[in-house]
Amino acid sequence: MSDDLLPLAEVYARYEPVLGLEVHVELNTASKMFCSCATEFGAEPNSQTCPVCLGLPGSLPVVNAKAVESAIRIGLALNCEIASWCRFARKNYFYPDMTKDWQTSQYDEPICFNGYLDVEVEGEVFRVPVERAHMEEDAGKLLHLGGATGRIQGADYSLVDYNRAGVPLIEIVTKPVFGTGPKAPQVARAYVSALRDIVRALGVSDVRMEQGSLRCDANVSLMPIGATELGLRTETKNVNSLRSIERALSYEIQRQGAILADGGKVKQETRHWHEEGYTSPGRSKETAEDYRYFPEPDIPPIAPSREWVEELRATLPEAPAARRRRLQSEWGFTDAEFRDIIGADALDLIADTVALGCTPAAAKKWWLGELARRANDAGLELDALAITPAQVAELQSLVAAGTINDTLARQVIEGVLSGEGSPGEVVATRSLAIVSDDGALLEAVQAAIAANPDAAASIKAGRQQAIGALIGAVMRTMQGKADASKVRSLIMESLS
Ligand code: ADP
Ligand code: MG
Ligand code: ZN
Repeated sequence: MSDDLLPLAEVYARYEPVLGLEVHVELNTASKMFCSCATEFGAEPNSQTCPVCLGLPGSLPVVNAKAVESAIRIGLALNCEIASWCRFARKNYFYPDMTKDWQTSQYDEPICFNGYLDVEVEGEVFRVPVERAHMEEDAGKLLHLGGATGRIQGADYSLVDYNRAGVPLIEIVTKPVFGTGPKAPQVARAYVSALRDIVRALGVSDVRMEQGSLRCDANVSLMPIGATELGLRTETKNVNSLRSIERALSYEIQRQGAILADGGKVKQETRHWHEEGYTSPGRSKETAEDYRYFPEPDIPPIAPSREWVEELRATLPEAPAARRRRLQSEWGFTDAEFRDIIGADALDLIADTVALGCTPAAAKKWWLGELARRANDAGLELDALAITPAQVAELQSLVAAGTINDTLARQVIEGVLSGEGSPGEVVATRSLAIVSDDGALLEAVQAAIAANPDAAASIKAGRQQAIGALIGAVMRTMQGKADASKVRSLIMESLS
């Protein structure tokens, strides 16, 4: 795009970035927020609807108790206070994805408020203050067809699927986050990553960014260093991965920096992130008044008893920071090694792999090595690769059993990623197992010696390094399917 950008070092020398993160988490309840319709992902369009979630006149909503429970557990895990009494509110707007012409949400009476989450960036801890976590319902999904981009601009017509309308959402909104300086984009990423880990550990959502069950809108503004008044912010939508959060914020910070440094004024608006690496303007921001919020008259107030809240507090999983400390010491990794794992967003993947019997060292080697490389090449998050922790554990057990070596394992990974099945199946269909038949190996060794008389003579004369050529020749004959240390000892035996 043609935006002017101020280099990051210059921005941070003059301005203090202020973040505001809005995260929507789609709950994995079996039924919707206010009706008993199913919530299964990927079902036939408009097959999971009823008069309530279609907003037909005269229908009445009934609150999903499990969704309230999940909201409270999320709030508690984020160190929030839980309201002893709260209400839903109508957020009025007209759009075809919401047939009622309002979204049932919460406004000034959220169920959870005033919490925080501590996140770590490069060994430094930042406390991100949480303003509120409130309950609401998702909208339907519009499909814009006939155009090149799938966006409404240029489309010939649109279809709407109301299966998603009424699916329970928890929106978690931070207070303005100050004091991150140049680490603002990383703090934002670390916050969403930690939040995702917490929600996943609670078991209340799949929290898959690429499937939209965790969505983040990233607000940022700049203020001159030393100033006390907040600058005008932009809200970037469409950031569908942790990496994009960091990139989108970096871009916005540089774009706003250039405007301010030039004496201009940032326009308060929503913007869209494009994976090519830039943001573009969306609509200019509505204010709360535009929505004409008012308390929802069809739903009684919610008053969670203190006993219930305490019961739910007792179900909270280990806090992420404590869990990290525990895993690091159990696995025996150094601070630097562990930081690499966190940085690669591989903690849960490695934990799951280790839980399935893999050693921590091997789990780290595969996830941070070959798999991280392939994810990076494909432009994917590590956990979006088509391989599971169970498959990585199986892969390593094949290596440990001597069925394959590391080189063959990389071919197995390629097979698993291209959908050829489990590691065991790929080894079988691609015939990748190491040949354990000594006869065949010995034959290859003797052929290699016969074909490389000079190397053989060197080894006999005591020049050990010449053995590389012979091992290489045997490996070629065996198409890599041999155990190199075994080949080495067979060569030495044959020559002595
Ligand atoms: P909206 O409805 O406009 O999205 P919200 O209050 O839901 O507003 O969310 C705005 C987010 O941006 C919050 O996280 C808030 O703390 C944050 N925020 C508000 N003002 C600023 C600002 N000037 N700069 C950066 N972030 C801000
Ligand atoms: Mg908002
Ligand atoms: Zn319904």
